[in-house]
Amino acid sequence: MPEPPFHARSAAEVLAALEARATGLSDAEAAARLARHGPNALPEKPGPGPLRRFLRQFDSALIYFLVAASIAAALLDHRIDAAVILAAVLINAVIGFIQEGRAENALAAIRTMVAPRASLWRDGRRIGVAVADIVPGDIVALEPGDRVPADLRLLRARSLRIDEAMLTGESVAAEKHAGRVAAAAPLAERGSMAYSGTLVVAGQATGIAVATGRDTEIGRISGLIETAEAATTPLLRQIDRFATRFTWIALAASVALFLFATLVRGFPWDEALIAVVALAVGAIPEGLPAVITITLAIGVQRMARRKAVVRRLPAVETLGSTSVICTDKTGTLTRNEMTARRIVTLGGRLLATGAGYGAGGTLAAEDGIDDAGALESALPLIRCGVLCNDAELRSAGGRVLVEGDPMEGALLALAAKAGLDPAHLRTAWPRLEEIPFDARHRFMASLHTGPDGTRTLFVKGAPERLLDLCATEAGPEGPRPLEPGRWTEAIRAAASAGERVLGFASRPASPDETLDFAAVERGLAFLGLVGLVDPPREEAAAAIAECRSAGIAVKMITGDHAATAGAIARQLALADEGAVVTGAELDRTDDAALPALAARAAVFARTSPEHKLRLVRALQAGGAVVAMTGDGVNDAPALKQADIGIAMGDKGTEAAKEAAGMVLLDDNFVSIVAAVREGRVVNDNIRKVIAWTMPTNGGETLAVVAAIFLGLAMPMSAVQILWVNLVTEVTLGLVLAFEPAEPGVMQRRPRPADAPLLSRFLVWRIGFVSLLFAIGTFGIFAYALARGHDIETARTLVVDLVVVFEIFYLFAVRYTHTTSFTWRGALGTGPVLAALAAIVAAQLAFTYAPFMQAVFDTRPVSLADGLVVLAAGAGLMLILEAEKAVLRRTGWFGGPD
Ligand code: ADP
Ligand code: MG
Repeated sequence: MPEPPFHARSAAEVLAALEARATGLSDAEAAARLARHGPNALPEKPGPGPLRRFLRQFDSALIYFLVAASIAAALLDHRIDAAVILAAVLINAVIGFIQEGRAENALAAIRTMVAPRASLWRDGRRIGVAVADIVPGDIVALEPGDRVPADLRLLRARSLRIDEAMLTGESVAAEKHAGRVAAAAPLAERGSMAYSGTLVVAGQATGIAVATGRDTEIGRISGLIETAEAATTPLLRQIDRFATRFTWIALAASVALFLFATLVRGFPWDEALIAVVALAVGAIPEGLPAVITITLAIGVQRMARRKAVVRRLPAVETLGSTSVICTDKTGTLTRNEMTARRIVTLGGRLLATGAGYGAGGTLAAEDGIDDAGALESALPLIRCGVLCNDAELRSAGGRVLVEGDPMEGALLALAAKAGLDPAHLRTAWPRLEEIPFDARHRFMASLHTGPDGTRTLFVKGAPERLLDLCATEAGPEGPRPLEPGRWTEAIRAAASAGERVLGFASRPASPDETLDFAAVERGLAFLGLVGLVDPPREEAAAAIAECRSAGIAVKMITGDHAATAGAIARQLALADEGAVVTGAELDRTDDAALPALAARAAVFARTSPEHKLRLVRALQAGGAVVAMTGDGVNDAPALKQADIGIAMGDKGTEAAKEAAGMVLLDDNFVSIVAAVREGRVVNDNIRKVIAWTMPTNGGETLAVVAAIFLGLAMPMSAVQILWVNLVTEVTLGLVLAFEPAEPGVMQRRPRPADAPLLSRFLVWRIGFVSLLFAIGTFGIFAYALARGHDIETARTLVVDLVVVFEIFYLFAVRYTHTTSFTWRGALGTGPVLAALAAIVAAQLAFTYAPFMQAVFDTRPVSLADGLVVLAAGAGLMLILEAEKAVLRRTGWFGGPD
């Protein structure tokens, strides 16, 4: 008879079948199984191969046009022109291919930085491992917000609910348990199983991995996963559309121009054809979308270096226009290194010394009189803190570290200072059931059997919450009616000192009781309070000040007590203490009044995840571009709603990370601000790329079109126009993607989210510089002819001038907000200098190398003429510098951006 399926076998049978133990495999066993079963990952669908990607480069209207033109040129016996056009096509494709590959590699490298992790048991210890390393037989722990990392047979489940929509299509989360189900049960009814890829919405569980990777249910359905998200953004799509439209217009104009040149002006038609082809190439900014993709990819890399990992490319752009950052407090603005500082019980007050999670430090009565008495009456509270607690302390390299919630770690350290051994306590009081902490109900409860066999219920949580639940308080002489007033006073005192305050409560439980919300509301006795310190991060205050100068509002949204939040906000110079809005006030404010309140206040306390969602919406209704942080499973809706959802990489759940546009590797507020700064640099650089590319293309075009219309000699030959495009677009055009921040990026107001791609300034710039290019071109052409040079020399000078203009214009465009005449500006950056060296060498060869002279019909240029060209370039830069100054003073065209 075949073995029944795992869901129909008991937990013990499954453990035996997989030769596993509830305490987990050993590392050696796990390694052996990993070698046997392979990684716990679905094979990725391979992207298009290199050949496909290379061929894709040829798929554009411009390329078809060029290939047709090249064939026409060859038929007309213009071999050189035909070859140069073909070379242009090929080089363009190669460059496009390389650039696309670089951008994709950059994004792929970053994707692995937030590889999902799972919590499991190995050798009796709970550790975090990469999901890919899970093997059959591993004991996996599940918590709300986790993606189930493998197919698990549950061994233990507490109020576990799992959203299996992706597998079964069922939108209501399924209740799970550890009992066996019928062998014939369909997938959706296998309550004893948790399937890979589904989402834990509530509860806690452990399960044994029975299938990994391709053997999982999801692996069988999908086989392959799509990893590559289309690397596009609204801006890129806008530019793509723009480039396509522009290409068609340019091609149509070229045809019209060809007809005009041959029919009206009487140019020989073969010459006109080639000139017009060259013009189309000159006018069309074919490299623009690729260069902008590179700019975005570089921004993503720079952000990753600052610990902010972008999961969706559009976030890069949006970050640059962020006008409000809504941030958590604990761990983001504070260090999340908690130390219990005070204990308040009816038997007295104790103060703890020492920092960190080690046992170093003492506990002494605040009044300095009766240490032993105060400690004695605090022991029930301390015990509650150890048992109603999921954290573990672990020493590594002489330091004690926390696995789990740092606040719970601090309670373990506190117990050690009181002379209790947490491990010993936990063995003596085994836990039967628990209600895990949730930001919505703000407490955690656990049910235990004591050493004498009776049961006790322990609860810890936000103190006002517990006071509501309690009927009595535990005094030195036994329970007595609760007097909330005194506690409220003590809570306020601790919270206004910036301490995070926890309340503790317990009661005896009957042997047949089960733990649910009703049980927590029955007759708890309040044990007392613990105040914990969690110092603000030093760098956070400076980052908040930076946001202020950048016109970005910072809002702290926390589940913590109003007074604690207010005190921390004051320490960070985020807001005055008075300005704290509580979740209860938010509940009283209707949607119409909320935007005003949300805009005004900077600190929101005792909020739940639903409040975050309302606040994001309210701020957006006021026109803000909102960045919102979150970590829990309930934060996902707010993260999705925000313009940029930011998940915590360290303490965040998988659900939050998936909903977010960006993940912080270090959970640090400073990293958000660094990412916003890089986002602004990206936005600047994209505009610089456009501001450089469009008029340099436009200038050449204008000159040649004018020559045709006026019936003048062409200032450049067709192959020369192709040459200029080839050498400059791939060198100079790209360097702006690498530009560092301009001084003062964080001293400007955020750019409005709906600002058009081509600002008024940009339109003006493109027109103005095109005109300057055209004037320069004709000027040098006329100058050369007037000096008695032949037309070949004159044309060589024109090409040299255009390249020199492009170089000087590049230096001018690198700074839009400040002057370009600085040491920084003159020295340039590595990429700028490399491009400069390459282009100068190419242009010298173009002018002086005999081979180039034969291909391009160029002549050597005298030193005097060369100096004239350079002087003209310097003149261009001076004019643009004056233009910037005038626009800044007058504000015409909206000022220089
Ligand atoms: P924060 O915004 O500071 O992260 P949380 O929503 O995590 O706030 O917590 C809100 C309140 O819930 C805390 O002030 C504390 O009183 C209580 N609390 C936090 N974590 C736990 C826990 N693990 N167990 C019990 N209570 C907790
Ligand atoms: Mg928290």
